[in-house]
Amino acid sequence: MIKYNLLCKCGENFESWFSSSREFDSLCKKKLVKCIYCESSSVKKNVMAPNLASRSNKKIANSGINKNIKKQLLQIRKYLEKNFKDVGENFPHEARSIHYDKKKGIQGIYGKATPEEASELQEEGIEVETIPWVDKSEN
Ligand SMILES: [Zn+2]
Repeated sequence: MIKYNLLCKCGENFESWFSSSREFDSLCKKKLVKCIYCESSSVKKNVMAPNLASRSNKKIANSGINKNIKKQLLQIRKYLEKNFKDVGENFPHEARSIHYDKKKGIQGIYGKATPEEASELQEEGIEVETIPWVDKSEN
């Protein structure tokens, strides 16, 4: 038995089993190989199959990585929420006051800052980390 990836003129790909390549050729000539979607007999062996397969494999691998990153970012978020103080929009102000007033015993803070504000803070020597804020609900 041989499995072929077949491509129809309607653009659909599908797989079909044949007892041999000769059987496939003869069925093809008799127009007995039909598209499972539109029943057209304009079907040919899909030479692109290996590429398509590897492309879809890549997609699966990538989404696995994204899931992992998201998981880690969620853990960072949970850690921040537990151990740091949320100062929201006041972040640049609060970060400066901690830095310049050398407030002691203050816990770390987190909040919102525009990219410009964040780079200003960094230029002033204030340690700022930017992390993507992952939405907990969306999973
Ligand atoms: Zn078709």
